[in-house]
Amino acid sequence: MRFTLLAGCSITLTFILTGCGPSSGSQPVLAAGTAQPNAAASTPPTTKGVIEVTLESVGLDPLALDRSVDPCSDFYQFACGKWLEQTAIPADEARWTRSFDEIRKQNELELQRILEQATQSATDPDTRKLGAYYGACVDEGAVDAAGARPLGELLEKIKRVRDKKALASVTTELHAQGIWPFFDISPVQDPRDASRWVANLDQGGLGLPDRDYYLRQDEASNKLRALYLGHVQRMLSLAGESEARAQAGARDVLQIETALAKVSKSRVERRDPKNMFNRWERPELQRAAPTFDWAGYLSTLGLAQVQDFNVTAPKFFDGLEVVLASSSSAAVRAYLEWHVVRSLARELSTPFVDESFKLEQALTGQAELRPRWRRCVDGTDDALGDLLGRAYVQRSFAGASKPAAEGLVHAISAAFGTELARLTWMDEPTRAQARQKLEAMAYLIGYPEKWKTYDFEVDRRAHLPNVLRARAFDLKRELFKIGKPVDRQEWQMSAPTVNAYYDAQRNHMVFPAGILQPPFYDVTSAAPVNFGAIGMVMGHELTHGFDDEGSQYDARGNLENWWSPEVSERFKEKTACVAEQYSRFEALPGLNVNGQLTLGENIADLGGVKLAFGAYRELRQTAPEQVSADGFDEDQQFFLAVGQAWCAKLRPEYERLMVQVNPHSPPRFRVRGPLSSSPEFAAAFSCPAGAPMLAEPACSVW
Ligand SMILES: [Zn+2]
Repeated sequence: MRFTLLAGCSITLTFILTGCGPSSGSQPVLAAGTAQPNAAASTPPTTKGVIEVTLESVGLDPLALDRSVDPCSDFYQFACGKWLEQTAIPADEARWTRSFDEIRKQNELELQRILEQATQSATDPDTRKLGAYYGACVDEGAVDAAGARPLGELLEKIKRVRDKKALASVTTELHAQGIWPFFDISPVQDPRDASRWVANLDQGGLGLPDRDYYLRQDEASNKLRALYLGHVQRMLSLAGESEARAQAGARDVLQIETALAKVSKSRVERRDPKNMFNRWERPELQRAAPTFDWAGYLSTLGLAQVQDFNVTAPKFFDGLEVVLASSSSAAVRAYLEWHVVRSLARELSTPFVDESFKLEQALTGQAELRPRWRRCVDGTDDALGDLLGRAYVQRSFAGASKPAAEGLVHAISAAFGTELARLTWMDEPTRAQARQKLEAMAYLIGYPEKWKTYDFEVDRRAHLPNVLRARAFDLKRELFKIGKPVDRQEWQMSAPTVNAYYDAQRNHMVFPAGILQPPFYDVTSAAPVNFGAIGMVMGHELTHGFDDEGSQYDARGNLENWWSPEVSERFKEKTACVAEQYSRFEALPGLNVNGQLTLGENIADLGGVKLAFGAYRELRQTAPEQVSADGFDEDQQFFLAVGQAWCAKLRPEYERLMVQVNPHSPPRFRVRGPLSSSPEFAAAFSCPAGAPMLAEPACSVW
């Protein structure tokens, strides 16, 4: 998986291998039909009439609730308990969520229908291309019959690597096809002038999910590395190596990757943009790693004119030189061969797919491989995202959702403005800068204005060459941006994706059509429920503009400090509270959430709930009546919607992986964290002092 320098954060992160407390004297369980009195100073007018409806009619799931749990003791369990009891993680999934994954399942079926139809009857060239790509992918017979043959040409070239020149030229050729040994190259927005693209050179070249997998010495890590060694060996055997060479090759691979891991930055170090932007001129690159033929590399990738680079991890390139200069040709050949096989195994015949899945299984606990059609829907989305996205939007995106979602974002943005005006820890100059950034923030909803085109050949009879051409085309399109102006309207997710993101360098939020569906968003749901679900997501993305990373960028997306020193100090104290609170959450026995790794996401979750609540209250202030849903008042409905959007089951292996590499906290803490610091939550459920759902101290940033 390539980790791009997307200076922003999605609401959830799907892991791809390539990509709570005892009750103490709190109120009794909330019984149906007994709306709790609100105790907060911000209580809405109580003189309103009350309309009685059901939970279902407002968009909540009564069957997910566990009413035997005290909401002030463990609200996540209260909102999701029965759902957790009754839901089994499908055998071919590592996790299951009531929102993201349920919607994704529906989307996949819709995309499958689109693609199946495209394979059968297509009149226009775009639909034919979709049909041919998907058709070649699902043709398991043809893929199996081809075996390892489609790799032949690449593996032959690797076999001829005897010197450093050949090493550089083969590495270049692999990069050009989206296979990433040693390091990564991509465009990145210039940190000092976000309107322009520059070339970004990044650490890379690992086969395990993170550098720490190579460096940790505990028993579980040692065991996983032993498993990895066997896996690399079997993959090299499948690629045609003799038993002895595969065994020696696997040891070489682990040695090279360990050396690269040692000079790689940690995920926490990579979260600070100041660490990630280092400008190098060409001579500096040449000096750091003289063994590599940079001139040839850049020229082949169409970057002959590029003179300056952003280098994310300068020490990595010094270390790369040591690896390149000291590794034997045989070791380098094994390493390159392994990266070809690992990168393409899932597109090859069954033995490769099965072996590739074994490592994934060890890392995520997933019991079964996904059926081929699902993998091919994903693959087609990767290769031809906007062709598929356009067809999906035409068929499935209700026109009314777009203006409705725009209205919600406006309300969230206004809520941030209101909060900003009354924050006591701000001084006026910094507040004015924050307001400027808020006003400059753009949001893109549903689908892009301009769809991408895909000018490469797709052959209905041969899957792997299609994959390589798609990757090569995509990389070319990306690298072509270098030196050119940035298009702020460009999307980094396809329209069917069930996710959203904020990009700090473009200062915009993106909400694809895929996520604008129940239970996140439904035109028929009540306002508190829509705000608790999708509103929280929107508030989350907006707050990313002001989290510990986002706050380092100004309104134009430049890495520019706009904070007065005193306010900056207070901000650090506030974010330290969040880091400490989440570090106390125990995900698995002995494994706590990493408060530093997840800091930006947790700040965004805290802000997301607060902004969405403020926006919902503002909207309902003038409503003539209060709606009571099976006894839950509107504030309570809002918090139930927050909780139920995050009902999730995770396999323990997946949760362990997530805690180690994912910047998002596990779902139950995404409910517990923000709500336990929310006075509005405590008031809505009349939680008494000392209740487990009241964080001590409560944290608040925005
Ligand atoms: Zn996020």
